[in-house]
Amino acid sequence: MDLSNAETRHVKKDGAEYLEFTAFDKYMDKITAVFAIKGENDLRYFTEDGKENLENLCRVISVDPNKLIKITKQAHGDNVAVVKDLSEVAEADGLVTNKKGITLSTRVADCISVLIYDPVQNAIADVHSGWRGTLKRIAPKAVLKMQQEYGTNPADVVCVLCPSIGLDHFEVDDDVKDLFVEEFGERYMYGLNGKTYIDAARHLTESLVEIGVKLQNVHDAGLCTVCNKELLHSYRGIGSKEPCYHNAALICLK
Ligand SMILES: [Zn+2]
Repeated sequence: MDLSNAETRHVKKDGAEYLEFTAFDKYMDKITAVFAIKGENDLRYFTEDGKENLENLCRVISVDPNKLIKITKQAHGDNVAVVKDLSEVAEADGLVTNKKGITLSTRVADCISVLIYDPVQNAIADVHSGWRGTLKRIAPKAVLKMQQEYGTNPADVVCVLCPSIGLDHFEVDDDVKDLFVEEFGERYMYGLNGKTYIDAARHLTESLVEIGVKLQNVHDAGLCTVCNKELLHSYRGIGSKEPCYHNAALICLK
């Protein structure tokens, strides 16, 4: 099976399986950015028994596994941590840096990881945006943090929304629906057979555009984790059972 489409390239190499994004192709000499998936071998990354997989992935994509920032607790909040060295990041949902050689990572199983690159100031961000994070505008807050720290102009950044739960599967109850309507109106809310579905990627895109990111610079991988649960870790895809493992969104300045 192959998940390649206009926005993504499915790579299988030396035991690692991951997606690359065509939006970043022209910056290949500046950044490494991948979304590691479970693939046909059910690869795990952020578990004790997945340690080797993560290290192997790092080797394959030529980043230093000892310089990988893993957030201890992704908390569905809006805290964006500025990474200056290899210090532990205890609790955050967004990471930004302009340090070369440090790999930022987020882990997701239906939520949206957003990888962001500013080619002018040469700075990066990696964001975990679930529905709570999307409501709290964590992704635009990461861009604004880049602006504050590195002088980033939002109009310059290129954003990739990694695979996440799609509109076709993101059914929500009234309480979640009401929160989205309050924040964004009903624009990307769809009703079918008495159920409500939300296009979270579109909400997230809109919140980035609101702060000056160019619409044509926001790229959606266009892959639903639930539809592709054979190859992508998906919480809802496995029936919301524990434990659920995670895909890994990695980005590093060369
Ligand atoms: Zn789907």
